[in-house]
Amino acid sequence: MVKNQRVWLTRGLGGLLIWGAMATVCRAETIPFTLLQLNDVYEIAPIDNGRWGGLARVANLRRQLEQANTHTYTVLAGDFLSPSALGTALYNGDRLAGRQMVAVLNAMGLDYAAVGNHEFDVSAQQFRQRIAESDFQWLSANIADGAGNQFTGIKPYEILTIPGAEGGEVKVGILALTIDSNAADYVTYSDPISTARRYIQSLEGEVDVWVALTHLSLAQDLALAQAIPELDLILGGHEHENIQRNHLIIKPDSSASCPQAQTPIFKADANARTVYIHQLTYDTDRQCLEIDSQLQPITAAIAEDPATAQVVDQWQEIGFTAFRQAGFEPMAVVVKAPMALDALDAHVRSRSTNLTRLITRAMQYEYPAAAMVMFNGGMVRLDDLLSAGSITQYDIIRILPFGGRVVTVDIRGDLLQKVLTQGEKNRGTGGYLQLAGLAPADIEPDKVYRLALMEYLLTGQEVGLDYLTENTPGLKVIGYGRDIRSILVDYLQNNAHQAFTDLGEP
Ligand SMILES: [Zn+2]
Repeated sequence: MVKNQRVWLTRGLGGLLIWGAMATVCRAETIPFTLLQLNDVYEIAPIDNGRWGGLARVANLRRQLEQANTHTYTVLAGDFLSPSALGTALYNGDRLAGRQMVAVLNAMGLDYAAVGNHEFDVSAQQFRQRIAESDFQWLSANIADGAGNQFTGIKPYEILTIPGAEGGEVKVGILALTIDSNAADYVTYSDPISTARRYIQSLEGEVDVWVALTHLSLAQDLALAQAIPELDLILGGHEHENIQRNHLIIKPDSSASCPQAQTPIFKADANARTVYIHQLTYDTDRQCLEIDSQLQPITAAIAEDPATAQVVDQWQEIGFTAFRQAGFEPMAVVVKAPMALDALDAHVRSRSTNLTRLITRAMQYEYPAAAMVMFNGGMVRLDDLLSAGSITQYDIIRILPFGGRVVTVDIRGDLLQKVLTQGEKNRGTGGYLQLAGLAPADIEPDKVYRLALMEYLLTGQEVGLDYLTENTPGLKVIGYGRDIRSILVDYLQNNAHQAFTDLGEP
């Protein structure tokens, strides 16, 4: 008898692509169920001028899948409360901080959400409030609150009992895991792999199919697949680009006729540009699981679910009203970008990109007398590529949701050198410093330089720059200027062609 044999077919974006399908001879009761997967969603409405994404479209797709099979479960593999432009909008005295996202996911019919690293960008109070507002179940097995206790409203796993038409049933365990980056002071982590192993071993014999809903790096997901052969499927996130990997493992309990099996890992594109539809079929007698996964682009070809679209519009309007009060016209087109702009966290926190050079160009344009301009890479919060084409003021807010004024100072060379050394040490974090103008090697310790920088860098809150404030000896504040977003909007509007000339590689 073939036990735990797994078969999967994976369809790519175009055509039919079959990854190692094996024939099965399951003749007993088979129970089909569907998992609709999305991950890393920050925008409730379609992005890129309406071309991609949009949770009202996903809601319609979900309904269609549910009509085809009532046993349809929608899962989100982490990262949704933050970062987003709308989330920074002030409403009734507090930032939205993911409230708009929870409301839309409720309307969309989400069933389970894994906790991602960006969920901890919001305050402890906002985090707890968002959980309380959720109609869906939050999951993570390896996080606890600051005191080491389980968060109210977060379960380590859920076991679904899905009945078949002929009296059988399949028990599906969904266990979630969270990466330990962006750690806030109100969360603690345990090792994801040993934690998962502990739970899965303790539930031995009680679960037929194990699904890991993870927000981990691909390397961690591969290690998880390697370490825990009981996992049948890993649905992940965090990378922002669609990934499908079939990790080859040797099943410890496999029979001679099924010596090998794989644990497929799937991640969809961020912002619901795509979602994964996993059609699973479980044979209760032979304990065979068949997995048929399809990457589904979310485009205008999918109509919006009207009820969800109404909730999207309502929150978008709340956010846009706040932005208008702050002096922005969200839908106004600022410029047409001839190329995609790179605002991925991994890049803007470790080197310059075409987007960071665009921002330093705008700062230099605003302050032509400054010898050097400087901002912290963590100011850019899009963590995505901005497609070529029309850039709206809302896009500028998406790139720089927290804004802030630019301040000019006169700074002694030795202090500037000290700051720049720390900026290099901060590589890989939000405190990495993006620069333009004077080459650091040309700075003389005793000379005084005019520097334009973000006011945040003078608050003493940046990593390793706690000594840097308005009152630091060797530094004199000349004046506070405009919000960086207004500076960028004006620069792009007035220099539509020069701005993108010789901007270099992404
Ligand atoms: Zn993430």
